[in-house]
Amino acid sequence: MKPIYLDYNATAPLLPQAKEAMLAVMDAPMNASSVHRFGQEAKKQLNDARAEILHAVGADGHQLVFTASGTEANNLALQALPDVDTVFVSAIEHPCILKPAARLKASMIPVDSKGLVSLKALEKMLQALKAEKGEGAKALISIMLANNETGVIQPMKDIVALALNYGAFVHTDAVQCLGKIKLDFAEMNIDMMTLSAHKAGGPLGAAALVAKHGLHLRPQIMGGGQEKNYRAGTENLPAISGFAATARYVAASLIAPNLRDEMEAEMQKIYPAVRIFGLEAPRLPNTSCVAIADIPAETQLIHFDLAGIAVSAGAACSSGKVAVSHVLQAMGAPEDSAKCAIRISFGRHTTREEIKIFLTHWKKLINTLPNSKVIAA
Ligand code: PLP
Repeated sequence: MKPIYLDYNATAPLLPQAKEAMLAVMDAPMNASSVHRFGQEAKKQLNDARAEILHAVGADGHQLVFTASGTEANNLALQALPDVDTVFVSAIEHPCILKPAARLKASMIPVDSKGLVSLKALEKMLQALKAEKGEGAKALISIMLANNETGVIQPMKDIVALALNYGAFVHTDAVQCLGKIKLDFAEMNIDMMTLSAHKAGGPLGAAALVAKHGLHLRPQIMGGGQEKNYRAGTENLPAISGFAATARYVAASLIAPNLRDEMEAEMQKIYPAVRIFGLEAPRLPNTSCVAIADIPAETQLIHFDLAGIAVSAGAACSSGKVAVSHVLQAMGAPEDSAKCAIRISFGRHTTREEIKIFLTHWKKLINTLPNSKVIAA
């Protein structure tokens, strides 16, 4: 049987459009900082790619700094604004926000059981900052647009409205969103946004921090004057070209939620006690985080892997170990439920047939449960 890949939120297979764009610039010497004709051509390609990506995410006329990963762009975002007194991040951010945030002694915004940030708690934090440091005190709020484990989409309009009342900056990690939901940087009226090509079918090694026009950034990587001094290092033009082709293609054909919804409806029929995290909130169309009580995620992963099906347990840990998800814990999920959750994430080319096969193997797992557990968790 052909392996079935249902782990698109970890990384998506390379789109042919991306590969073609990469191959087109792979052979020539392409250093965009060189003065000669090769360099000029590289610079043109680089700036065309920049404009293309900005356009795809509704950010025409704004700035875009290319980085090597979403991780790097998030690290840059948290430390880029010199006039910030404090940083607020949500409790369900990716570790590449949470770890730099910890170093910056950031405060954590809690989420509710649906996985949505508490606007009340955020407002209290903003009020406390003003009370402590005076009216001019400035916060940077970093809240992901959609969560990588549950797919829950945050109410960015309400977050920005609140931030504007308190003069705070807003950054969003939109790494999981490109090609899944419409991205409109200008309409969101945020200050910074992170993107990463490989989550959308582009190559590894290309990502970006989009920043509001006129916002001055403090670089994290210094050296040459690339990226207007915001990020030194020769730009990875083949990967960036692949990123631009990806952004153009996926922004014009967003993934539909129908297959995911059909799968979840079927799961609820097979096993009424199934727990689907974030079900009551708006979610990405391709993501499903589901727990079968009493079967640890590792056991489920091995079961599916033996059947040739790739899914993941909550967040994919770089160590290959499965830890209890901080996201599900922040949503108040009891540990025994959180440790039994797996993430199924689709791509635009996932087929109904593949989901049918996945469900057959999922049912086999359910059949290992005693009857009483199938009805009530
Ligand atoms: N942010 C989120 C929400 C992610 O899911 C990931 C990757 O899993 C990242 C950031 C990091 O992106 P990259 O793999 O490009 O470093």
